[in-house]
Amino acid sequence: MQNRQMVYRYIRENGPVSKQDIVVALQLSLPTVTQNLEYLKKQGLIDASRKIKHTGGRNATAYTYIKNAKTAIGVSLTANHMSVVAVDLSGEVIGLVREKAVFDLGDETYLKKLGETVELVKETAGISTERLLGVGISVPGFISDDGEEVTYGRTLGFTGRKREEIARYIPYRHFLVHDSYAAGCMESWENHRITNAFYISLGNSIGGTVIIQNEIYQGDSRKGGEIGHMTVVPSGGKTCYCGKKGCFDTVCRATNLDTYTDGNLEEFFLRLKQGDKKAEKMWKEYLNHLSLAIHNIRMLFDGSIILGGYVGAYIGDYMELLCQKVDARNPFGDKAEQYLLECRYKVEAVAAGAAIFYVDRFLKSI
Ligand SMILES: [Zn+2]
Repeated sequence: MQNRQMVYRYIRENGPVSKQDIVVALQLSLPTVTQNLEYLKKQGLIDASRKIKHTGGRNATAYTYIKNAKTAIGVSLTANHMSVVAVDLSGEVIGLVREKAVFDLGDETYLKKLGETVELVKETAGISTERLLGVGISVPGFISDDGEEVTYGRTLGFTGRKREEIARYIPYRHFLVHDSYAAGCMESWENHRITNAFYISLGNSIGGTVIIQNEIYQGDSRKGGEIGHMTVVPSGGKTCYCGKKGCFDTVCRATNLDTYTDGNLEEFFLRLKQGDKKAEKMWKEYLNHLSLAIHNIRMLFDGSIILGGYVGAYIGDYMELLCQKVDARNPFGDKAEQYLLECRYKVEAVAAGAAIFYVDRFLKSI
C-alpha cells in the first residue's frame, strides 16, 4: 500500500489524530507524512480546521477525514420497486428514494423514471456532479464478463439487455451488478468479523455470494454462490421459476411465508410473535429447510454464513432456535452461534452494495 493511502486510511479509521500520531503509528518520516497530508487536504479529502487539546504546550492540528468528500449512488431494481440510495465514504446511506415501479426494461417510461429517481436522490442528498463517483445498478440477474450485458434475467425476462440501454437516462459513470453480489459485498465490506463468508439472500428469490479473503468469488462463469438452484427436494418438489423441480428457492424464498399475509412479511412476523399456529407451523418448516442449507454450506466451506434479504431482516429473534437446528446436524461440534450471523444492513442492502463498489474502488485509488 502506498504511503498516501496508509495515511488516509489511518485518519479515516482513527481520526481525529495529530500529525505526530500518524508518524508514530505508521513509522513514517515527518516530511513524508506532511507531504501526504498536504496532498489529501488539497484533494478535499481531509479536514485540518480543528485542534486537539493538550494539557501543556501548543494544541496540535486535528486531522479527520471528510465523509462526504465523495459519494456514490446505488440502484436496486426488483419486480415491483426501484430503490435508489446515496452513500458516503463511510458507507452510510445519506439519501434514499424507494418507488413502486413494475420492472420493464423495454419500457421507455420506466427507464426515464429510473433516470429521474437517480437525479432526485442526487439533488436531495446535495451531491454535486464532481463529487459523484458513479452509479451502480443492481439487477436480479447475471452479468457478462465485460459487465456490458445481462446474461440471465431470471423471471423478469430481460436476458440480453445492455448496460447502455438500462442506463440511457443516467448521465454519469455507471455499471451493472448481480443483486446478490451487491448485497454480499455490502455485508463483507470493512466488516472485520469476516474474512471468508457465504452470504445467503433470503428474498423473494434466493441468492448467494461466496466471499473469500474479503473478495467476491464469482466462479468460472459468474454464477458462483447461486444456491437458489441447489436441488434440496430430490423428488416431488415444487417447480422453481427456473423450470426445474425441488430447488432450494422453492422452500426458502420469502414469498413462502408472506403468502399467508397477502405479501406482507412484516405482518407474517407479527402474527408469528402473537402465537398464530399456522404461522408457527410455516416458520418451523422454513427453519428446517434453512438449517439444512446452512449446514451443507458450512460443511463445504467452513467459513461464516450471513443471513440477509427480506427474511434476514427479521431473523434476529429466531437466531437461537436456528442455531440449535444447525448444531443438531453438525458432526464436529462447531457452534453455529460462532459462525452464523444476521446481516448488518437491514434496509436497502442491495442498492447500497451497488454503490459501495464505487466507494471501495475510490478508497483503493487514493
Ligand atoms: Zn431453480
